[in-house]
Amino acid sequence: MPYSRERASKGGHSDIVKNPDVANFLNDCIYMKEPTDEEGISIAKSYSPAPTDNSLPMKAVASDASPYSEPISGKFPSTQIGYIKVSLVLIDLKDYNGLSAPGSRFVDPFKVAAMHRNADAISFTLPGSNICYKGAQTVEEGFRRAIWEQLSDDRTSFHKDGDFTVKGTLLDILNNNIIIEKCPNSDCGHKPPGGFLFTSQTLVHNCPECNKEVYLTDFLRIHEQISDFGNNSSAMTRFMNVVEHLIVATLIRMLLHYQPQTLSNMAFIVDGPLAIFGQPARISSRLQSFYYHISQTLAQHGLQPPIILGLQKDGQLMEHARALNPYLSVNSFRVIDDVYRKKYIIGTSTYTENFGQETYYGQDFIFKTEAGRIFTVGIPYPFPNKQNQTNFAKQKADITNYKNQIARAFDVIRHFEFDLYENAVVPIALAHRHASISLVPGGKVLDLVTRHGLSNT
Ligand SMILES: [Zn+2]
Repeated sequence: MPYSRERASKGGHSDIVKNPDVANFLNDCIYMKEPTDEEGISIAKSYSPAPTDNSLPMKAVASDASPYSEPISGKFPSTQIGYIKVSLVLIDLKDYNGLSAPGSRFVDPFKVAAMHRNADAISFTLPGSNICYKGAQTVEEGFRRAIWEQLSDDRTSFHKDGDFTVKGTLLDILNNNIIIEKCPNSDCGHKPPGGFLFTSQTLVHNCPECNKEVYLTDFLRIHEQISDFGNNSSAMTRFMNVVEHLIVATLIRMLLHYQPQTLSNMAFIVDGPLAIFGQPARISSRLQSFYYHISQTLAQHGLQPPIILGLQKDGQLMEHARALNPYLSVNSFRVIDDVYRKKYIIGTSTYTENFGQETYYGQDFIFKTEAGRIFTVGIPYPFPNKQNQTNFAKQKADITNYKNQIARAFDVIRHFEFDLYENAVVPIALAHRHASISLVPGGKVLDLVTRHGLSNT
């Protein structure tokens, strides 16, 4: 994982760094440091005035996901259950009441807590360490089964007709042709000729060797991180990461099918970079093609693509941006090309020809608003694939390839600036301060998205 939300306490941190062994060790390391004045001024010179499109989408959807991995009983702390919540909030920009709302400069923490508790989220329950689900022989087998059941049932279905579930999206972005080379069941590993082929007609196989089930969702390989007795929270985080991106893509797929015009007039705000990490990273290149396909299809109808933006609240890029902020002019931005990233952000020499080759499907930008707030924003790469790494590294950093997408994304950030900046949980902050509704999958989603005005819902 490229960054962690968990931070050590300040006290503990300085004590360790003062330790002479650690100080000597650090002398031999390369890592990100605060820029000197000279460096700050010099880096800031490479930033340009930020564009505007003077336009706003009609509606925005913000997503957020949170993982919980907890012991089921205080007496057995190593017996854990995983619980993941993905919240989607629909905001009507025509009914904006954010900044002018009286006395609401700060979000009420009690209301935020109440929204966290409410049931308006898509939730997944997965076995953690030491729990075997439905007679599975290992935690991993039960984990695979739980993933399959929950990604293929109606909990992620955005329309009653057509397969607008995460499972359907997986089949769609993989062209209805998913191959798993070998049986993932414990101690089997059977490799049928040509692998196990999954299509919309064949969603589950019975392995001829071990006679156990192989599921389409095994393709995500999240189970490979599961151990019987260890802490499985990193597998939960991977699951959450990939599922959040797939749920947003599922909603967009449904809207493209039923309401392309509405889709074209919407923004989607995802928490974190436009990237999939770890074992499921192979989905990333498919999401890149998917968003390219969406923009091409809409263009054929004379429509603009939706605005997709990944907002990073923490991590190396945001830390760099904050350190640089004092040197940047207001309303300025920069594309984070690989040379820049290598020079100022990544303290490592293991560096590929194209940063994020396996993981990213969108390009990062740093953007400072007129009011002086700083954002790191990801926008989907405007290309169907990443063939030719060296060339791609150049193309993705050429801002003319994004047409007006950068300007449109910046306009959305300008509009929600205060809410996005002050609060860690984007949809909750937006939901609290704007006319909004929670989107829970089911037959009503399309009606809710296409209805004009949300205030009476
Ligand atoms: Zn098998």
